[in-house]
Amino acid sequence: MKLLEYEAKSVFSEYGIPVPKGALVRAPEELTPHLPELGSMMVLKAQVDVGGRGKAGGILVADASSAVDAARDLFSRTIRGVPVHEILVEERLPIEHEYYASITIDRSSKQPVILFADAGGVEIEAVAQEDAGAVRRVTLSPLLRDVPPFLLRELLGDAPKEIGPIVNRLYRVFQEKDALLTEINPLVTTPDGIYAADAKLIIDDNALARQGITVNRDLSEREREAERHGFSYVELDGTIGVIGNGAGLTMSTLDLIEYYGGKAANFLDVGGGADKTRVCHAVRLLASVPSVKVIVVNLLGGITRCDEVAQGIIDAGVAPQVIVRMAGTNEEEGRRLLAEHGYRMVDSMDAAVRAAVEAAR
Ligand code: GDP
Ligand code: MN
Repeated sequence: MKLLEYEAKSVFSEYGIPVPKGALVRAPEELTPHLPELGSMMVLKAQVDVGGRGKAGGILVADASSAVDAARDLFSRTIRGVPVHEILVEERLPIEHEYYASITIDRSSKQPVILFADAGGVEIEAVAQEDAGAVRRVTLSPLLRDVPPFLLRELLGDAPKEIGPIVNRLYRVFQEKDALLTEINPLVTTPDGIYAADAKLIIDDNALARQGITVNRDLSEREREAERHGFSYVELDGTIGVIGNGAGLTMSTLDLIEYYGGKAANFLDVGGGADKTRVCHAVRLLASVPSVKVIVVNLLGGITRCDEVAQGIIDAGVAPQVIVRMAGTNEEEGRRLLAEHGYRMVDSMDAAVRAAVEAAR
């Protein structure tokens, strides 16, 4: 789950990373009492989960006399389609130089990797594309508590050595907050110190409970519901709903849909041994997606019994057409039940997917 800038800054600050003085406001008038502590010039930053916020009009600069009006202006905007409900107002820093620092997991070495660039404030992908050497990187053992000094020197190059302790604190945040990404872009130098002018923190969804986070805000209402039922569920942008059991069968169903020129709206893996209640929940969940025109159910009956699946589909009683292909345990009984209730059961996966693609047209 992605934290917003002000939440990430509050975490960074707890770990001793300097952040600009600032206040979070939810209405323009809330800004007035904070004006004295924010200095003569300030930066108003929309708290929206949008990349390149600055370029998209999500950041305004104002002086004390115009700040409330600027806040009103910013609250009235949508930033790449996202409405602004919260604004972080900060003192404007006298920036001398902008650096880039981040920590993530390097999937090939299976270790944390720290990235650092002398050119911050801009999109790091663009920096790397222009000059592959501009982004320095070091990987380190996850067993280390601190970044060893020789690695810090390699990482920072000619950048001020005072950045070293900040990188170490960022690494602490990364470890202790179960982060997938911690990023400071830009990390700025000013005449009176180094600050994280922006902050990003993404927490591993699998660690949310350990981090005391009960609701994953990044999930849609349906994704949350799927999580409650223990389904693996992914939303896509087509019109065919897909239910399978096992990742392999579900994935090959998706491939086949693509092959026949269709587009999946989502896919849901009910897992092994699904009973009729589970199947019923799964079918209803998919049917509740407005873009779903047809649902294809592709299941292999092992510990999952085909008659249970059939009953679950019948119990769901949904409006979109449900095309079923299942094979295995109690297949005949399942077929009989489905036929009795007017459902379509197809013998092969290939035929089921073709029928679904046809029905979705
Ligand atoms: P992003 O566009 O969402 O990444 O937003 P950032 O917080 O990184 O801000 C974009 C740019 O605005 C930064 O690279 C800075 O150049 C500028 N900026 C942000 N905060 C300040 C500040 O306190 N003082 C000054 N002078 N510039 C700032
Ligand atoms: Mn930024």
